Amino acid sequence: MFGRDHGVRLSRLTATALATAAIAAGCVGAPTIGEPGKLTVVTTTTVFADLVSNVGGDLVSATSLVPKNADVHTFEPRPADVRTIASAKLLVMNGLGLDDWLRKTITNAAAEGTPLLQLGVDLPGAALLPGDTSGTQNPHLFMDVKYAELYVDRIAAALASADPGHSTAYGLQAAAYKQQLETLDGWVRAQIATIPEPNRRIVTFHDAFPYYAREYGITIVGVAVEAPGQDPNAGYTAQLVAAIKNAGVKAIFSESQFPTKLIDQLAAEANCKVVANLYDDALGDPPVSTYEGLIRWDTTQLVQGLS
Ligand SMILES: [Zn+2]
Repeated sequence: MFGRDHGVRLSRLTATALATAAIAAGCVGAPTIGEPGKLTVVTTTTVFADLVSNVGGDLVSATSLVPKNADVHTFEPRPADVRTIASAKLLVMNGLGLDDWLRKTITNAAAEGTPLLQLGVDLPGAALLPGDTSGTQNPHLFMDVKYAELYVDRIAAALASADPGHSTAYGLQAAAYKQQLETLDGWVRAQIATIPEPNRRIVTFHDAFPYYAREYGITIVGVAVEAPGQDPNAGYTAQLVAAIKNAGVKAIFSESQFPTKLIDQLAAEANCKVVANLYDDALGDPPVSTYEGLIRWDTTQLVQGLS
């Protein structure tokens, strides 16, 4: 069981506290994280840290600011995070509203000159889906394995730029990892194909699955919250319950980094079952401690819950 207790609900820091921490980090000078001789990369989420580790191999030390099982959407950096950011040679985030708190923190961390890779922003080859408010885009591109491969290309280029002496190694490691992701993509397709077609309809806690759903042929009937950190109003929930009943949804899926209470209430009202914890924005314990493990886990839960 992973609830918000396992995550980190962080207290709001004042700008003064962040600035003080940044000055302290500057005075100390030496990096407080990473390993000697390795390129220090700091990512917003554990998912991106795993992608970076796969491309960087032994040449890179990747650290995530948001811990495993925690929620990136409502994350608020602590003074220790400001020091971590200050020690990075490369910063990696998604953008599109997933983790935009990083950009504000960079200024406070005196890391303005550090290269910042925004994996989801203006991604060549990606067709974006709408976000939770008008004019925004859904940020969860990485849940489509094909798009994760595009992220890998960007990571390889950014690592080569930050550490040109090892550009060949980064290129080779990225190619090998992309091969692994191609195999994963094929496996997902084969698994989803085993679910009877009328059953391929889901409800999740937040809107993390539209790219996965589009790529692999699942229909998202609805999400419990329009955005993490916002409680839905009664009208929204009533509409969702009606949609769930209307579509004959077999399963409402809880997500590891969010509390289950709302999903449980929804399932009770719609008279359907909560079947499993899905993982999306954050990794967890094995077997969900890698991106590949996460995709395999979620796909297996969908197959079991919908078949
Ligand atoms: Zn999310």
